[in-house]
Amino acid sequence: MVQEKFASNYDLVIFDRDGVINFAPKGNARYILSVEELDLNELIINFILELQGTGVETCVATNQQCVGKRLISVDQLNRIHNAINIQISKAGGVPLDFFTCPHLIEEECECRKPKPGLLINAMSSFGVTPERSLFIGDQLSDKIAAESAALDFLYVENIDFR
Ligand SMILES: [Mg+2]
Ligand SMILES: [Zn+2]
Repeated sequence: MVQEKFASNYDLVIFDRDGVINFAPKGNARYILSVEELDLNELIINFILELQGTGVETCVATNQQCVGKRLISVDQLNRIHNAINIQISKAGGVPLDFFTCPHLIEEECECRKPKPGLLINAMSSFGVTPERSLFIGDQLSDKIAAESAALDFLYVENIDFR
C-alpha cells in the first residue's frame, strides 16, 4: 500500500501547492486569486489523507508572489488556504500548515523557492530531519529547493499510487 511505503521512509511530507494540491491556473492566468479559481486534485487530497492516517505529518510550501505584486492580500490568500483545509477537514483529515513566500523575486528573500527557506522552516517547525522528509513538487525550482535543504524530492507525476 502506498501509505505504508511512504510512512516507513518519512515522518514529514511537504507538498507544493499550485500544480500539486490544486491544478495550475487556467489559460494565461499565472496565479490563483480567489477560492472560485481553486480546483483541487482529488488524487492528491486522498493521498494526503492516507499519509495522515499512518501518522505522517503533512504541510505545504508555496511561492505566492501574487501577494508581493499586490494582486491579492494576505487575507485573501488565507481564505484560499482555508478553503483547501475545509475540504481536507470534511474528508476527515488534519488541516495543513501553509509555509508561504509572499515576496517579489527582486526582494531576494531566503524563502522563495528555489531557495530552501520554506522547506527548512517546515522541517524545523515539525521537528523532523531532512533524512525523514520528502518534498513533492511540479517544477525544477522545487527540486532545486529540496536539494539545497537536503531532503528527498519527488515530481508529482512520479508518485506511485499503487
Ligand atoms: Mg507548483
Ligand atoms: Zn520569500
